[in-house]
Amino acid sequence: MMKIRYPSRREFLGAISASTLLGDQRTEPDLVLYNANILAVDAAQPRAQAVAIAGGRFFAVGSNDDVRRLAKAGTRQVDIGGKTVVPGFIDAHTHPSYAGIRHLRWVDCDLRSIADIQKAIRERAAKTPAGDWVIGFKYDDTKTKEGRKLTRDDLDAAAPAHPVFIEHRGGHTAYVNSLALRRTEISDATADPEGGKFDRDPATGHLTGGLRENATAPFRKLIPTTFTRDEMRQGVKLISQMMVRTGVTSVHDAEAAPEDLLAYQDAREAGELSFRVYCLMQHQFLDRMIAAGIRTGLGDDWLRVGAVKLVCDGSISERTARLTQPYVGRPTDYGILVSSEEELYANARKAHEAGWQIGTHANGDAAIDIMLRIYERLQREMPRRDPRYRLEHCTVVNPALIGRIRALGAIPTPFSTYVYYHGEKMREYGAERLDWMFAVRSFLDAGIRVTQASDYPPGPFEPMMALQSEVTRTDSHGNVWGARQRVTVEEALRVGTLNGAYASFEEDRKGSITAGKLADLVVLGRDPLKVDPMTLIEIPIERTMTGGRWVYES
Ligand SMILES: [Zn+2]
Repeated sequence: MMKIRYPSRREFLGAISASTLLGDQRTEPDLVLYNANILAVDAAQPRAQAVAIAGGRFFAVGSNDDVRRLAKAGTRQVDIGGKTVVPGFIDAHTHPSYAGIRHLRWVDCDLRSIADIQKAIRERAAKTPAGDWVIGFKYDDTKTKEGRKLTRDDLDAAAPAHPVFIEHRGGHTAYVNSLALRRTEISDATADPEGGKFDRDPATGHLTGGLRENATAPFRKLIPTTFTRDEMRQGVKLISQMMVRTGVTSVHDAEAAPEDLLAYQDAREAGELSFRVYCLMQHQFLDRMIAAGIRTGLGDDWLRVGAVKLVCDGSISERTARLTQPYVGRPTDYGILVSSEEELYANARKAHEAGWQIGTHANGDAAIDIMLRIYERLQREMPRRDPRYRLEHCTVVNPALIGRIRALGAIPTPFSTYVYYHGEKMREYGAERLDWMFAVRSFLDAGIRVTQASDYPPGPFEPMMALQSEVTRTDSHGNVWGARQRVTVEEALRVGTLNGAYASFEEDRKGSITAGKLADLVVLGRDPLKVDPMTLIEIPIERTMTGGRWVYES
């Protein structure tokens, strides 16, 4: 027998004060969803059939009979037809504003053949004045069926009258056409720059259009990368629509600049923001924000200032994370540190003193060790209750690091879709290390509130891919990576919802279908607890609701 759960006094007061602010004294639901299979991610009431919503919040959660009884004449009632309903997903580390403006202005090259990429470039060129740049992003040479890299000839054939620049998904390599080479006056006679390389045909020495690392710099200087305030707002609108279609209702922007914060605010005021945003701010703006009296938590349920973002080491997909043991096949390569410990400590201390949450990019075990040492030192020198230090990515761990993360109450935000999507890059870490990468099982077993995070664009953001990746630890080709880190579907659901809310100090406001919380939910086409875990990714997202409003309906 399902018992109805009414809001607690605190939750009820929260709901009332929210509607009072709106000048609205509603004490009856405006919407009831019933005949649903609700997976609430609420330990007090894990399952329910119906939910009532008032003023953008859950008003009551329980059985069909109990909840429908609350409906009044003006209440809309929607039969969910037995479909599964889960809380809206929270992507705890992603780059939505950055991605949105690129989706708006650039060509998405996440396609499965060079022919498809050529088609997309040809279409964009047709709408672009001759001579203007056509720019692509998210190209991945390991994902196209031709089994070779893009060349200048491919790009010339697609857009001979436009300079073309196609960025790799990882960001460190790019591909250009002949007109782009002419614009930079780079020819077969040009020597490779320091720290970079122009790809050449081994037989003729002729440039093939491939650029590595610093060889991309002359092109990046010419590419238009300044966007108007209006374009930034439109980019946010676009990416929020793209993400809510997949069930994401909240994002943590992992590295926002002031123009990103402004773009979110502009989109919100224009009624174009479909998800909620918690903004981790780039550390170079910290002094000015502290001077303005700003710290973590400022904002509201739609847009909030989050942690300050620091960066310690390199990346996983580009194989530059700082490790204590070298990369497989490269015995002297331990990856790179991008900041010194003293510099990181100085920035972290300033933020900690001013009451900021801190989120530091730390992928490799060597980098995580450094950041834990800094966080431990801060707590010794200036103890703060519940600082919720974040370890962004926190990819390669071991039992000793996990013990320290647990003792600090720190929050890891590992890549949720990498095992499934980036399987071909996993070999360089080796099977043994993979047992301790994206270590969701180990974090949960230690009582650590690990989150789900895409890091989009580098990783896909679809929550159903995240679930499949975490539950099966199997890549899209069927290879298993680190099977001991598998979790159950129910655990992955909690990681992707309630734990994400905790990482932004909002677990009392969202992350579960609980009376009094914000009405963010997703209607799924199938029950994730009942399907073959290898098919989780195929579950259709039927509808997404943010704040009591359907922001996506299939
Ligand atoms: Zn990131």
